Amino acid sequence: MIKEYQVRVLPQQASSEQEIIDFLATDKGIDARTVNHVRVLKRSIDARHRSIYVNLTVRAYINEMPQDDAFVKTVYPNVSDRPQVIVVGAGPGGLFAALKLIETGLRPIVLERGKDVHERKKDLAMITKTQKVDAESNYCFGEGGAGAYSDGKLYTRSKKRGSVDKILNVFCQHGASSSILADAHPHIGTDKLPQVIEAMRTTILNCGGEVHFQTKMTAFKLSASRDEVLGVEALRQDTGQQVHFNGPVILATGHSARDVYRYLGEEKIEIESKGLAVGVRLEHPSELIDQIQYHSRNGRGAYLPAAEYSFVTQEEDRGVYSFCMCPGGFVIPAATGPQQIVVNGMSPSNRGTKWSNSGMVVELHPEDVKQSLLKSEAEEPMNDDLVMMRFQEQLEHMCWTQGNMQQTAPAQRMADFVSNRLSYDLPASSYAPGLISSPLHFWMPSMIVKRLQEGFKKFGKMSHGFLTNEAVLIATETRTSSPVRILRDRETLQHVTLKGLFPCGEGAGYAGGIVSAGIDGERCAEQCKLFLEQIK
Ligand SMILES: Cc1cc2nc3c(=O)[nH]c(=O)nc-3n(C[C@H](O)[C@H](O)[C@H](O)COP(=O)(O)OP(=O)(O)OC[C@H]3O[C@@H](n4cnc5c(N)ncnc54)[C@H](O)[C@@H]3O)c2cc1C
Repeated sequence: MIKEYQVRVLPQQASSEQEIIDFLATDKGIDARTVNHVRVLKRSIDARHRSIYVNLTVRAYINEMPQDDAFVKTVYPNVSDRPQVIVVGAGPGGLFAALKLIETGLRPIVLERGKDVHERKKDLAMITKTQKVDAESNYCFGEGGAGAYSDGKLYTRSKKRGSVDKILNVFCQHGASSSILADAHPHIGTDKLPQVIEAMRTTILNCGGEVHFQTKMTAFKLSASRDEVLGVEALRQDTGQQVHFNGPVILATGHSARDVYRYLGEEKIEIESKGLAVGVRLEHPSELIDQIQYHSRNGRGAYLPAAEYSFVTQEEDRGVYSFCMCPGGFVIPAATGPQQIVVNGMSPSNRGTKWSNSGMVVELHPEDVKQSLLKSEAEEPMNDDLVMMRFQEQLEHMCWTQGNMQQTAPAQRMADFVSNRLSYDLPASSYAPGLISSPLHFWMPSMIVKRLQEGFKKFGKMSHGFLTNEAVLIATETRTSSPVRILRDRETLQHVTLKGLFPCGEGAGYAGGIVSAGIDGERCAEQCKLFLEQIK
């Protein structure tokens, strides 16, 4: 017999299969010896009150063994002799597009400017060692894209449950724990993501697709009438060789491919500037966040995960909010070129470090930044569509000059920032390249500083102890989403004027996270299939 139960248990009672069986035996009067297996279908933590509970939906296999897999498998056929589609970028958008192309019987040719996920790791280590960033292989560029060395959070605001479940199931099929299907806030962790990404690549190759690393798209191949993309020109970074590939193009180059945005701007391919959230990374001792969120001096105890938080408020007509929280994680140097400092966060699967961080950002619109930019804009003629990107660049460069002209990041204690005080020293931090005390309240744009200061005061009132000098702000968080939208048709997902071009994922302005980029990748692949059927 298979039975499903919804139960509310203490953290320890949710901590293992045996604990759950024991609870069911007591609570539901089942003979524990007859329960062969329990599968957790849903798990969420209720930390609203002093006593913490875990809500579980469990399936109990009583007097029988599970016959079904913990996840749904997708069948990937061999597509060696099928029409090819070029996928530019091997982030979640590109990888899920490639797998979906295979599913629909098309052959993906994936081009990725960076290195494979393991080689890439060495370049990440070099950032701390040499204080230099490889412009082609870093926390944003390389196999797995910006999502590879991250927290691997897999929750999304998308309401399309079927599409979200598909992405999670594909991750499970490639080695992620099936617990991501049950958890209310699933995450994979930066120590597990590389193997999952590698397995996705293996599926692509085994089915007859191609993956070319260190191969950077430099231009489109356009039809004579310049209304269709026929393929791409690319540069092999290791040999300097120019190569080209033919086929419709799924462009999934992420939010940091500024050369791609510049190319589109120069070629007058329709793009528009888009709003963006900008701010700092805030890092607390994880013990403190656990104490606050779990309402206990003892913190999380033995059975609860590192605590999460989420804050949002409005200040002077703009949103101020926490973003991409990494409990038990690290703050990392996420720049993609020289003379920039950009910070972001990642966590291992156990979320076990001594720190918890999140982006604390202010929503900005193009009209907010235009004025401040024009004053200092000298070296490049202003393209309105790239205004937010130029703002990001200026702020990242300013941060670099404030931070010793290395990857050492300017930082300030949280309460000092709110009180406009320079910090005389800084707390220990997970940010490996190092911090330097700096008056962020003084040199960061006041439209960001003022809103953050007011926001922090409110968050401190909402959560006693949150606004503290034990926490440090690290500048600057600028890569929260794309500064540009590449305009596409809502139905066909093709570019508004260029047939055969499918702007995809976060870089095109249609996703904001790993799962939503994956969903968009799948949608672009489906539309690409329809496009090829129509022109047959
Ligand atoms: C440090 C960090 C942590 C994050 N943590 C999370 C998280 O926990 N959860 C979450 O949901 N989101 C997280 N994000 C955001 C998430 O990673 C992105 O939303 C997601 O990766 C976007 O997917 P994408 O495929 O659209 O673009 P990307 O992942 O950015 O991938 C684009 C790829 O295209 C390649 N590329 C660029 N230009 C070219 C070119 N000219 N030729 C060939 N290849 C090119 C790049 O090298 C890159 O690999 C994080 C981001 C960062 C930077």
